[in-house]
Amino acid sequence: MPSQNPPEFAANRPAVRPVGDAPRLDDSLQFLKGVGLQAATVLAKLELHTVADLLKHLPRRWEDRSHFRRVADVQTGEYVTVCGTVIAATTKYPRPKMQITEVLLDDQGSALKLIWFNQPYMEKTFKGFAATRRALVVYGQAKRSGWTIEIQNPEWEEVNEDGDSLGMNRIVPIYPLTEGIRQGRFRKLIDSVLTSHAPLLEESLPAPIILKHRLIGIHSATRNIHFPESEEHLHEARRRMIFEEFFRLQTLLALRRLQNCHESHGILFQVDLPQLNADLAEIVPFQLTNAQQRSIAEIAQDVTSGRNMNRLVQGDVGSGKTMVALAAMLMSVQNGYQAALMAPTEILAQQHALVLRGLLEPIGMAVELSLGSQTEKQKREIRDRLMTGQSRLVVGTHALIQEGVEFASLGLVVIDEQHRFGVLQRQALAKKGKRPHVLVMTATPIPRTLTLTLYGDLDVSVLDELPPGRKPITTHWKSADKRAQVYAGAQKLLDEGRQVYVVCPLVEDSEKLQAKSATQLSEHIANEVLPQYRIGLLHGQMKSDEKETVMARFKAHDLDVLVSTTVIEVGIDVPNSCVIIIEDADRFGLAQLHQLRGRVGRGEHASFCILVAEPKTEVGRARMEIMTQTRDGFRIAEEDLRLRGPGEFFGTRQSGLPEFILADILRDMDVLTETREAAFQLVADDPELTKPENRLFRRTLAQTELGSELIAVS
Ligand code: ADP
Ligand code: MG
Repeated sequence: MPSQNPPEFAANRPAVRPVGDAPRLDDSLQFLKGVGLQAATVLAKLELHTVADLLKHLPRRWEDRSHFRRVADVQTGEYVTVCGTVIAATTKYPRPKMQITEVLLDDQGSALKLIWFNQPYMEKTFKGFAATRRALVVYGQAKRSGWTIEIQNPEWEEVNEDGDSLGMNRIVPIYPLTEGIRQGRFRKLIDSVLTSHAPLLEESLPAPIILKHRLIGIHSATRNIHFPESEEHLHEARRRMIFEEFFRLQTLLALRRLQNCHESHGILFQVDLPQLNADLAEIVPFQLTNAQQRSIAEIAQDVTSGRNMNRLVQGDVGSGKTMVALAAMLMSVQNGYQAALMAPTEILAQQHALVLRGLLEPIGMAVELSLGSQTEKQKREIRDRLMTGQSRLVVGTHALIQEGVEFASLGLVVIDEQHRFGVLQRQALAKKGKRPHVLVMTATPIPRTLTLTLYGDLDVSVLDELPPGRKPITTHWKSADKRAQVYAGAQKLLDEGRQVYVVCPLVEDSEKLQAKSATQLSEHIANEVLPQYRIGLLHGQMKSDEKETVMARFKAHDLDVLVSTTVIEVGIDVPNSCVIIIEDADRFGLAQLHQLRGRVGRGEHASFCILVAEPKTEVGRARMEIMTQTRDGFRIAEEDLRLRGPGEFFGTRQSGLPEFILADILRDMDVLTETREAAFQLVADDPELTKPENRLFRRTLAQTELGSELIAVS
């Protein structure tokens, strides 16, 4: 027992606290009973270092293993969890470079076939299981094929025979994990710290808030989010956690809004609007839309007010946000300040640089391009030019916010495609200057009602008008057996000199597999489908100069067809492309399909978006229908929300900002609205959050990066 240790032992204590002291939330996982160095290394890969990290590592989904579905009752297209014993495992080699491993599972006389592609090592594992008739729990999307039900690439787990109380006969958490640690082991770990450490968690939400919004306390929520006693307990635990996530963000937004309002010393620009419009008319080869002009006027008003601009320009894909950015950047430069435009990907940054250079170089204005992939020498030179003020305009990626980049006089920061950025990055770049003006541009099709709630600290301009002369985009949904026709149609347009995008099927979870699938598809198209055309390939695993070359060649029409992963989703603009074929379209989110479709219809040609898909469910079919019916991104978002419905609680993906752990801005809109009111009320009543009941909450906010800026820690 520690208290009876001789004194000399205590004097020899290592720097790290030994086990035996009272448990603390910041206890290092490595010294936890049953962990050790090896497991700790694996956990560190998941950013899990302390017990507190572990408790906050929430399940990705939950499985009700108190009742399993019977294989005999499973319908095609359903996501199901089933349980059965392994009876056989084989691998087939239907053609070179293709291996199919099939595992047969028996569930009370009904067979379930599990299928893996190109993972022949699986066979050995499962042969072993078959010999001992091991029981498995598997999860995945079921497909009926003749008499059998099959699941491709299922998630699976062995059932432990020794009365697995954490993994069976209850609602079981499934965690996002990494190689080297299995669900069963992780569950045991969570279970043990729930007992040893969770009681130490402090309630950070103010008591009046908990009471008023009927939330459950932190202890019950933590236990039930991991190991729910029932569906109802899980629901309450999730509601509490989601509330907390939103409430924190909303309180920070409320605080920032308050600060912006008090802030009177923004950089003061002079803008002569008629003169600016005349300048733009010189530079831009087309007439700006009314919506563009209105947004530009709103920006001019902000930057000449003496206050700091914090404005969001929201406009659907193709509405011409880049020109609004250009106008704002001109204002900054004409006032003797620098301006920076930040894009979410290198490809997009390169494209912006290309466009801006095309317009500005003729009038003698240089545009700097700053990328993470540049050489150290290039980076240093760019940094120098920005620091001395020699460069006035810069376009870049996240590299722009990395340490070491300093500006002589940064007057404006434009952030394009905000949905790819967190609130934090916006703030980090804004910190680079002496509070530069900030313009955020987004095409995120979130329902209009949500905009203010999410960007509560920003003013909003809306580009609700597309440039004139746009030919409509016709969207068709085709089944796979019509594929030959689809490509024949594309070929006709290629013959007329147009260009075509092909988006390859989405492969979840692995960039490598995704790249492989794109490569295979492009080879197939080049060899079999459109051999007479020049086919290019673009995917996330390519080096950025390779990507750049391919993009430039496609833009210059040195390539006719671009086969790509979703890396082309954001912002790419090649007006001569008028067909986009999206393979396995039902696997993409609607917002993503909408973004992809926005790659065409940008020029004078009638354009087509072809969704090749065979959705298995009613909802899947309805989703494809919506895409063929409307081009309004906001309607699509609302329909998506309606289709997914409030009942769909598990396993949804969110694409919006900011990143929440559990919360989903569309699905949990009612909680979001509730927290917004509560947070703004809280800040109105107690702007410094110094009342006793708010103190702990204030401290937790101050510990976040965003909060540390807003809250002076006392
Ligand atoms: P967004 O970023 O909003 O998706 P872009 O700024 O990339 O849209 O503009 C889409 C295309 O429309 C570009 O090719 C751009 O040159 C063109 N464009 C922008 N504004 C106008 C306009 N007022 N008239 C005609 N074409 C325009
Ligand atoms: Mg854009």
